[in-house]
Amino acid sequence: MPRRTKCEQPESHRIELIDLLMNFEAELRSKDLRRKVLSLVDAYRLLHNLGSSLIPMEIAKSARDRILCYFRKYPSTIIDGEEIMVVSGISEWARRVRELRVQFGWSIISGITAKEMLKEESPLVINGVEISEMKPNQYFLASPEEDREAARRWHVANDIRKGKGGSKEKIIEFFRQNVGQPISGEELRYAANDKSEWARRVRELRTENGWPIVTRNTGRPDLPVGMYVLEQDRQSPEHDRNIPDLVRRTVLEQAKYRCANCKWHHKKWNRSDPRFLELHHSVPHSHGGKNEAENLIVLCNVCHDQIHKKRR
Ligand SMILES: [Zn+2]
Ligand SMILES: [Zn+2]
Repeated sequence: MPRRTKCEQPESHRIELIDLLMNFEAELRSKDLRRKVLSLVDAYRLLHNLGSSLIPMEIAKSARDRILCYFRKYPSTIIDGEEIMVVSGISEWARRVRELRVQFGWSIISGITAKEMLKEESPLVINGVEISEMKPNQYFLASPEEDREAARRWHVANDIRKGKGGSKEKIIEFFRQNVGQPISGEELRYAANDKSEWARRVRELRTENGWPIVTRNTGRPDLPVGMYVLEQDRQSPEHDRNIPDLVRRTVLEQAKYRCANCKWHHKKWNRSDPRFLELHHSVPHSHGGKNEAENLIVLCNVCHDQIHKKRR
């Protein structure tokens, strides 16, 4: 049985398929099960060929290219796995989607990851797409840009996921090897060995362990939804931890994302002065200060450090 040949037009596949189905009437009447099955195998092959011929070879040479072409044609649109199966013309399409995402850096979000993100971050809408409606077997392309650093990160994530330790250790290790870089939820999930609790672990690392991991909702409104950044490789002082995300967001929004002392804003960020914003208790925990908005102020890490030095 010849594999897909070049230059075949959708129309020739269509005609071949119709022929086969017309003849299948006779096959159905026969008692030979094997013959029926074999002729349907041909029908599947023809359907695959027909599907993959919808995007011409001049535009996309491989199944992976066809999948990418389809995603880019319909960005920010929820796409069913079955659609990808049709245009790719292969049954191993899910693996190709993963390659596009992790090795080539296309921000393709799956329904599974969206759901896990939703539990911790509540980004209900990404680029106008209502992600709470997504089913596990659906996907969408969140950014039209390819992230060229993704291949390097993928290798790092690959080493980490094979190593020892729980998903929390794996996630923070991945972050610490990519300080200051936006990382997608899909990558974190991968580094955490596809454990579904990865999103909860990220929140714990931020709130309980004091790592400055920010998202659009928790400190960096300039970030695309679904991206995470470890701003610096250091944990906040013990007493400034355990602030619920919702409180954090409220305090930051009220402060308009500026340091209460020097008015630093992320717009002023540069490599030689890589600051970030932290939350600080006006009345310290040890003096009965609460983890509530009224008792919290926003400081850049430089001013925060100075205040803590004075207190000692
Ligand atoms: Zn400051
Ligand atoms: Zn503090």
